[in-house]
Amino acid sequence: MAQTKQRDVYMVIGGNGFLGRHIVQQLLERGDIVSAFDIVERYNDVQFYSGDITDQESVASALRKSGTTCIIHTASPHAQLNNPELFRKVNVEGTRAIIAAAVEARVRKLVFTSSAGVVFNGQDIIDVDERLPFPEVHMDAYNQTKAEAEVLVLEANGKGGLLTVALRPAGIFGPGDRQVMAGFYQAYERGQTNVQVGENNNLFDWTYVGNVARAHLLAADRLDTPPPAPPVSQLEKQPTSSDE
Ligand code: NAD
Repeated sequence: MAQTKQRDVYMVIGGNGFLGRHIVQQLLERGDIVSAFDIVERYNDVQFYSGDITDQESVASALRKSGTTCIIHTASPHAQLNNPELFRKVNVEGTRAIIAAAVEARVRKLVFTSSAGVVFNGQDIIDVDERLPFPEVHMDAYNQTKAEAEVLVLEANGKGGLLTVALRPAGIFGPGDRQVMAGFYQAYERGQTNVQVGENNNLFDWTYVGNVARAHLLAADRLDTPPPAPPVSQLEKQPTSSDE
């Protein structure tokens, strides 16, 4: 008899941010139970837990109260801040605290928003995939601490039954953005639009926020679904008695 899959109860950490809010809305739209954990309060349509991820007990208490089975962790300081101590505290120690709280509360799944910048050191990157190793020297403290957090999340896979995955979006655009368009507008206001650096032929990846949010839902859904078997053509040839 086919078993009914257990429905998750979601907590979006950083759920009042740009991406986090889109994830909350998509979960609501498909009828899931979701809460938001954040240092700022902006919305009142889902259960909200006010707290800082660097405070493990605050995260653990929210997880227990909400009965969360799947965490989607999108919290981070803005990449443009020049504050290495804050990046380390929130991205590395905060993520460590979330993992510890998740294991303690027997959460089943953790989806982490990393960044495409974790493999960028200023050199062009073309046609690569996730097998590309981290650079020896990271671009900056933001990307270094995102990379360290990503390692913590992936190493936690299997700990206390926790299943983990990290996604690496490139630039994100769309409604609710407070960083990218604000930065462009500031450049416009400062009259910096008549300057060109280089040949104007650099390429950069951008993804619509709704698609990045959807990727997080799909990653959560697939975490406890075994991947389909590979096509027969990709299976290693098994030795048969006639090969001997
Ligand atoms: P955002 O600033 O809009 O959202 C982040 C949220 O995290 C905010 O609501 C903030 O209050 C919360 N937060 C920050 N520190 C916290 C703390 N200590 N405890 C609890 N909550 C805290 O940023 P965003 O653009 O939505 O980015 C979301 C995630 O996506 C981040 O992890 C970021 O590194 C990653 N990312 C963003 C982009 C982009 O272009 N925006 C690109 C790649 C990766």
